[in-house]
Amino acid sequence: MNKIIKKTAVIGNPIKHSLSPQIHNYWIKQNQLEVEEYRKIEINLLNSKVEIKKLLENEFSGLNVTIPLKEIAYEICDNLTETSKKLKAVNTITYNNNSISGDNTDPEGFTKSIAEKIKTENIVGKNVLVIGAGGSARSIVYALDKMQAKITIVNRTTAKAINLSNDLDIPLNIEEFDQINSLIHDFDMVVNTTALGMLGNQNLNIDLSKIKSTAHIYDLIYNPFETQLIKDAKIKNISYQNGLGMLINQAAESFKIWHDVYPTINADLFSLLRNSY
Ligand code: NAP
Repeated sequence: MNKIIKKTAVIGNPIKHSLSPQIHNYWIKQNQLEVEEYRKIEINLLNSKVEIKKLLENEFSGLNVTIPLKEIAYEICDNLTETSKKLKAVNTITYNNNSISGDNTDPEGFTKSIAEKIKTENIVGKNVLVIGAGGSARSIVYALDKMQAKITIVNRTTAKAINLSNDLDIPLNIEEFDQINSLIHDFDMVVNTTALGMLGNQNLNIDLSKIKSTAHIYDLIYNPFETQLIKDAKIKNISYQNGLGMLINQAAESFKIWHDVYPTINADLFSLLRNSY
Protein backbone atom coordinates (compact mmCIF):
# COMPACT_ATOMS: atom_id res chain seq x y z
CA MET A 1 0.00 0.00 0.00
CA ASN A 2 1.24 3.51 -0.78
CA LYS A 3 2.51 5.48 2.16
CA ILE A 4 0.89 8.88 2.75
CA ILE A 5 3.34 11.64 1.87
CA LYS A 6 3.34 14.04 4.82
CA LYS A 7 6.69 15.82 4.53
CA THR A 8 7.66 17.52 1.28
CA ALA A 9 10.33 20.02 0.27
CA VAL A 10 12.38 21.36 -2.59
CA ILE A 11 16.12 20.76 -2.49
CA GLY A 12 18.88 22.53 -4.39
CA ASN A 13 21.77 24.93 -4.04
CA PRO A 14 21.12 27.84 -4.02
CA ILE A 15 17.49 27.49 -2.95
CA LYS A 16 16.71 30.83 -1.27
CA HIS A 17 14.75 32.24 -4.23
CA SER A 18 12.67 29.14 -4.99
CA LEU A 19 8.95 29.84 -5.42
CA SER A 20 8.00 26.17 -4.98
CA PRO A 21 7.06 26.56 -1.27
CA GLN A 22 4.55 29.31 -2.10
CA ILE A 23 2.99 27.10 -4.80
CA HIS A 24 2.78 23.86 -2.83
CA ASN A 25 1.71 25.49 0.43
CA TYR A 26 -1.05 27.35 -1.44
CA TRP A 27 -2.41 24.02 -2.71
CA ILE A 28 -1.90 22.22 0.63
CA LYS A 29 -4.12 24.88 2.22
CA GLN A 30 -6.57 24.96 -0.68
CA ASN A 31 -7.07 21.19 -0.47
CA GLN A 32 -7.04 21.17 3.36
CA LEU A 33 -4.42 18.40 3.40
CA GLU A 34 -3.23 17.21 6.77
CA VAL A 35 0.45 17.36 5.88
CA GLU A 36 3.37 19.44 7.04
CA GLU A 37 4.33 22.73 5.46
CA TYR A 38 6.37 22.27 2.23
CA ARG A 39 9.90 23.53 2.87
CA LYS A 40 13.01 24.56 0.98
CA ILE A 41 16.28 22.91 1.97
CA GLU A 42 19.77 23.82 0.81
CA ILE A 43 21.94 20.77 0.15
CA ASN A 44 25.70 20.72 0.65
CA LEU A 45 27.04 19.89 -2.81
CA LEU A 46 30.11 18.09 -1.44
CA ASN A 47 27.95 15.46 0.19
CA SER A 48 24.70 15.67 -1.74
CA LYS A 49 23.81 11.97 -2.15
CA VAL A 50 24.20 11.30 1.57
CA GLU A 51 22.26 14.45 2.46
CA ILE A 52 19.35 13.55 0.18
CA LYS A 53 19.17 10.01 1.56
CA LYS A 54 19.21 11.39 5.12
CA LEU A 55 16.23 13.60 4.29
CA LEU A 56 14.32 10.64 2.87
CA GLU A 57 15.02 8.58 5.98
CA ASN A 58 13.89 11.59 8.00
CA GLU A 59 10.43 11.18 6.46
CA PHE A 60 10.77 13.80 3.75
CA SER A 61 9.17 11.32 1.40
CA GLY A 62 8.38 13.83 -1.35
CA LEU A 63 11.22 15.95 -2.69
CA ASN A 64 11.37 18.33 -5.61
CA VAL A 65 14.86 18.68 -6.98
CA THR A 66 16.30 21.74 -8.65
CA ILE A 67 19.69 22.84 -10.01
CA PRO A 68 22.29 21.46 -9.76
CA LEU A 69 20.98 18.20 -8.26
CA LYS A 70 18.65 16.72 -10.90
CA GLU A 71 21.32 14.37 -12.29
CA ILE A 72 22.44 13.28 -8.79
CA ALA A 73 18.81 12.61 -7.91
CA TYR A 74 18.54 10.43 -11.03
CA GLU A 75 21.52 8.38 -9.86
CA ILE A 76 20.08 7.55 -6.42
CA CYS A 77 16.66 6.35 -7.64
CA ASP A 78 15.64 2.69 -7.56
CA ASN A 79 12.74 3.18 -10.01
CA LEU A 80 12.51 5.69 -12.83
CA THR A 81 9.73 6.79 -15.14
CA GLU A 82 10.26 6.66 -18.91
CA THR A 83 10.68 10.47 -19.00
CA SER A 84 13.30 10.67 -16.26
CA LYS A 85 15.19 7.72 -17.79
CA LYS A 86 15.32 9.49 -21.12
CA LEU A 87 16.38 12.83 -19.59
CA LYS A 88 18.75 11.20 -17.07
CA ALA A 89 17.44 13.82 -14.65
CA VAL A 90 14.86 13.71 -11.83
CA ASN A 91 12.89 16.64 -10.42
CA THR A 92 10.41 14.67 -8.28
CA ILE A 93 11.43 12.02 -5.76
CA THR A 94 8.95 9.83 -3.89
CA TYR A 95 10.15 7.59 -1.08
CA ASN A 96 7.90 4.66 -0.36
CA ASN A 97 8.56 1.25 1.25
CA ASN A 98 12.32 1.95 1.37
CA SER A 99 12.38 2.49 -2.37
CA ILE A 100 13.26 5.76 -4.14
CA SER A 101 11.19 6.60 -7.23
CA GLY A 102 12.14 9.35 -9.64
CA ASP A 103 10.07 11.26 -12.15
CA ASN A 104 10.64 14.39 -14.19
CA THR A 105 7.59 16.64 -14.49
CA ASP A 106 9.36 19.48 -16.35
CA PRO A 107 8.37 18.37 -19.88
CA GLU A 108 4.73 17.92 -18.86
CA GLY A 109 4.86 21.29 -17.07
CA PHE A 110 6.07 22.94 -20.26
CA THR A 111 3.46 21.14 -22.41
CA LYS A 112 0.58 22.03 -20.10
CA SER A 113 1.71 25.66 -19.92
CA ILE A 114 1.90 25.92 -23.71
CA ALA A 115 -1.62 24.50 -23.92
CA GLU A 116 -2.82 27.56 -21.98
CA LYS A 117 -1.90 29.64 -25.05
CA ILE A 118 -1.80 27.33 -28.09
CA LYS A 119 -3.63 24.09 -28.88
CA THR A 120 -0.84 21.48 -28.80
CA GLU A 121 -2.16 19.91 -32.04
CA ASN A 122 -1.35 23.24 -33.71
CA ILE A 123 2.32 22.69 -32.90
CA VAL A 124 2.55 19.58 -35.11
CA GLY A 125 5.01 20.30 -37.95
CA LYS A 126 5.70 23.86 -36.77
CA ASN A 127 9.22 25.30 -36.87
CA VAL A 128 10.43 25.88 -33.33
CA LEU A 129 13.74 27.46 -32.34
CA VAL A 130 15.15 26.34 -28.99
CA ILE A 131 17.89 28.64 -27.68
CA GLY A 132 20.19 26.90 -25.20
CA ALA A 133 21.28 23.32 -24.59
CA GLY A 134 21.50 23.08 -20.79
CA GLY A 135 19.40 20.98 -18.41
CA SER A 136 16.09 22.74 -19.10
CA ALA A 137 16.60 22.58 -22.88
CA ARG A 138 16.55 18.77 -22.61
CA SER A 139 13.05 18.84 -21.12
CA ILE A 140 11.88 21.36 -23.72
CA VAL A 141 13.27 19.42 -26.69
CA TYR A 142 11.78 16.19 -25.28
CA ALA A 143 8.36 17.84 -24.91
CA LEU A 144 8.45 19.57 -28.31
CA ASP A 145 9.46 16.33 -29.99
CA LYS A 146 6.42 14.62 -28.42
CA MET A 147 4.33 17.50 -29.83
CA GLN A 148 5.86 16.68 -33.26
CA ALA A 149 7.41 20.10 -33.75
CA LYS A 150 10.29 20.60 -36.20
CA ILE A 151 13.06 21.65 -33.85
CA THR A 152 16.11 23.82 -34.52
CA ILE A 153 18.55 24.37 -31.66
CA VAL A 154 21.28 26.93 -31.12
CA ASN A 155 23.65 27.15 -28.18
CA ARG A 156 26.69 29.25 -27.31
CA THR A 157 28.60 25.96 -27.08
CA THR A 158 27.41 24.11 -30.20
CA ALA A 159 28.98 20.82 -29.05
CA LYS A 160 26.45 20.71 -26.18
CA ALA A 161 23.56 20.96 -28.66
CA ILE A 162 25.03 18.02 -30.58
CA ASN A 163 25.35 16.02 -27.35
CA LEU A 164 21.78 16.85 -26.41
CA SER A 165 20.49 15.56 -29.73
CA ASN A 166 22.58 12.37 -29.43
CA ASP A 167 21.71 11.73 -25.77
CA LEU A 168 17.98 12.11 -26.33
CA ASP A 169 18.17 10.34 -29.68
CA ILE A 170 16.13 13.14 -31.21
CA PRO A 171 17.39 14.45 -34.57
CA LEU A 172 17.62 18.24 -34.47
CA ASN A 173 18.57 20.93 -36.91
CA ILE A 174 21.62 22.46 -35.22
CA GLU A 175 22.66 26.02 -36.10
CA GLU A 176 25.20 28.52 -34.77
CA PHE A 177 24.20 30.77 -31.87
CA ASP A 178 25.30 33.93 -33.67
CA GLN A 179 22.99 33.10 -36.60
CA ILE A 180 19.78 33.60 -34.60
CA ASN A 181 18.91 36.96 -36.16
CA SER A 182 19.37 35.75 -39.73
CA LEU A 183 17.21 32.64 -39.10
CA ILE A 184 14.45 34.16 -36.99
CA HIS A 185 11.99 34.77 -39.86
CA ASP A 186 11.61 30.96 -40.29
CA PHE A 187 10.15 30.20 -36.88
CA ASP A 188 6.63 29.83 -35.53
CA MET A 189 7.88 29.64 -31.98
CA VAL A 190 11.07 30.69 -30.19
CA VAL A 191 11.89 29.25 -26.75
CA ASN A 192 14.64 30.76 -24.61
CA THR A 193 16.08 28.13 -22.28
CA THR A 194 19.32 29.98 -21.55
CA ALA A 195 20.11 31.89 -18.39
CA LEU A 196 20.36 35.07 -20.48
CA GLY A 197 17.81 37.59 -19.23
CA MET A 198 17.74 36.22 -15.67
CA LEU A 199 18.02 38.78 -12.89
CA GLY A 200 21.68 39.75 -12.66
CA ASN A 201 22.61 38.29 -16.06
CA GLN A 202 23.02 40.02 -19.39
CA ASN A 203 20.00 40.02 -21.71
CA LEU A 204 19.33 37.74 -24.64
CA ASN A 205 19.37 40.33 -27.40
CA ILE A 206 17.44 39.09 -30.39
CA ASP A 207 16.29 41.30 -33.23
CA LEU A 208 12.59 40.51 -33.62
CA SER A 209 12.07 42.86 -36.57
CA LYS A 210 11.82 39.96 -39.06
CA ILE A 211 9.86 37.50 -36.90
CA LYS A 212 6.47 36.24 -38.18
CA SER A 213 3.59 38.27 -36.76
CA THR A 214 1.96 34.92 -35.80
CA ALA A 215 5.03 33.65 -33.92
CA HIS A 216 4.99 32.81 -30.21
CA ILE A 217 7.82 33.70 -27.84
CA TYR A 218 8.34 31.53 -24.77
CA ASP A 219 10.93 32.58 -22.18
CA LEU A 220 11.56 29.96 -19.49
CA ILE A 221 12.75 32.70 -17.16
CA TYR A 222 10.22 33.98 -14.60
CA ASN A 223 12.55 36.22 -12.59
CA PRO A 224 12.34 38.98 -13.73
CA PHE A 225 8.67 38.55 -14.61
CA GLU A 226 9.34 40.33 -17.91
CA THR A 227 12.71 39.77 -19.54
CA GLN A 228 13.95 42.02 -22.33
CA LEU A 229 12.85 39.28 -24.75
CA ILE A 230 9.28 39.40 -23.43
CA LYS A 231 9.32 43.22 -23.53
CA ASP A 232 10.46 43.07 -27.16
CA ALA A 233 7.67 40.59 -28.01
CA LYS A 234 5.14 42.95 -26.41
CA ILE A 235 6.46 45.87 -28.46
CA LYS A 236 6.14 43.75 -31.62
CA ASN A 237 2.63 42.77 -30.53
CA ILE A 238 3.32 39.04 -30.86
CA SER A 239 2.14 36.40 -28.44
CA TYR A 240 4.42 35.49 -25.52
CA GLN A 241 4.66 33.80 -22.16
CA ASN A 242 7.22 33.65 -19.35
CA GLY A 243 8.35 30.62 -17.33
CA LEU A 244 5.86 30.98 -14.47
CA GLY A 245 3.30 28.74 -16.20
CA MET A 246 5.84 25.94 -16.60
CA LEU A 247 6.96 26.32 -12.99
CA ILE A 248 3.39 26.05 -11.71
CA ASN A 249 2.43 23.18 -14.01
CA GLN A 250 5.48 21.04 -13.19
CA ALA A 251 4.66 21.63 -9.51
CA ALA A 252 1.06 20.53 -10.12
CA GLU A 253 2.29 17.24 -11.60
CA SER A 254 4.48 16.60 -8.52
CA PHE A 255 1.60 17.51 -6.20
CA LYS A 256 -0.60 14.95 -7.98
CA ILE A 257 2.10 12.25 -7.66
CA TRP A 258 2.41 12.76 -3.89
CA HIS A 259 -1.10 13.67 -2.79
CA ASP A 260 -3.24 12.08 -5.51
CA VAL A 261 -5.04 15.41 -6.04
CA TYR A 262 -4.68 17.53 -9.18
CA PRO A 263 -4.54 21.06 -7.78
CA THR A 264 -6.44 24.00 -9.21
CA ILE A 265 -4.29 26.52 -11.04
CA ASN A 266 -6.00 29.88 -10.70
CA ALA A 267 -5.35 33.58 -11.07
CA ASP A 268 -4.94 34.00 -7.28
CA LEU A 269 -1.93 31.70 -7.36
CA PHE A 270 -0.39 33.65 -10.24
CA SER A 271 -0.84 36.94 -8.38
CA LEU A 272 0.49 35.43 -5.13
CA LEU A 273 3.67 34.46 -6.99
CA ARG A 274 3.81 37.74 -8.88
CA ASN A 275 3.88 39.51 -5.51
CA SER A 276 6.54 37.21 -4.00
CA TYR A 277 9.38 38.53 -6.16
P1 NAP B 1 21.97 25.30 -17.40
O1 NAP B 1 21.82 23.82 -17.48
O2 NAP B 1 23.04 25.88 -16.56
O3 NAP B 1 22.10 25.88 -18.90
C1 NAP B 1 22.38 27.23 -19.12
C2 NAP B 1 22.21 27.56 -20.58
O4 NAP B 1 22.40 28.99 -20.72
C3 NAP B 1 23.22 26.89 -21.51
O5 NAP B 1 22.64 26.68 -22.76
C4 NAP B 1 24.32 27.97 -21.60
O6 NAP B 1 25.11 27.89 -22.75
C5 NAP B 1 23.46 29.22 -21.66
N1 NAP B 1 24.21 30.42 -21.26
C6 NAP B 1 24.60 30.78 -20.02
N2 NAP B 1 25.28 31.95 -20.06
C7 NAP B 1 25.32 32.32 -21.36
C8 NAP B 1 25.89 33.43 -22.06
N3 NAP B 1 26.54 34.40 -21.41
N4 NAP B 1 25.73 33.49 -23.40
C9 NAP B 1 25.06 32.53 -24.07
N5 NAP B 1 24.50 31.44 -23.48
C10 NAP B 1 24.64 31.35 -22.12
O7 NAP B 1 20.60 25.97 -16.84
P2 NAP B 1 19.09 25.45 -17.00
O8 NAP B 1 18.75 24.57 -15.85
O9 NAP B 1 18.90 24.95 -18.38
O10 NAP B 1 18.26 26.81 -16.78
C11 NAP B 1 18.29 27.83 -17.74
C12 NAP B 1 17.20 28.87 -17.45
O11 NAP B 1 15.91 28.26 -17.48
C13 NAP B 1 17.33 29.52 -16.08
O12 NAP B 1 17.05 30.89 -16.23
C14 NAP B 1 16.26 28.87 -15.24
O13 NAP B 1 15.74 29.73 -14.25
C15 NAP B 1 15.19 28.61 -16.31
N6 NAP B 1 14.33 27.46 -15.95
C16 NAP B 1 13.00 27.69 -15.82
C17 NAP B 1 12.16 26.63 -15.51
C18 NAP B 1 10.68 26.87 -15.36
O14 NAP B 1 9.98 26.04 -14.79
N7 NAP B 1 10.18 27.98 -15.87
C19 NAP B 1 12.68 25.34 -15.32
C20 NAP B 1 14.06 25.15 -15.47
C21 NAP B 1 14.88 26.23 -15.77
P3 NAP B 1 26.49 27.01 -22.72
O15 NAP B 1 26.06 25.59 -22.88
O16 NAP B 1 27.26 27.52 -23.87
O17 NAP B 1 27.13 27.27 -21.40
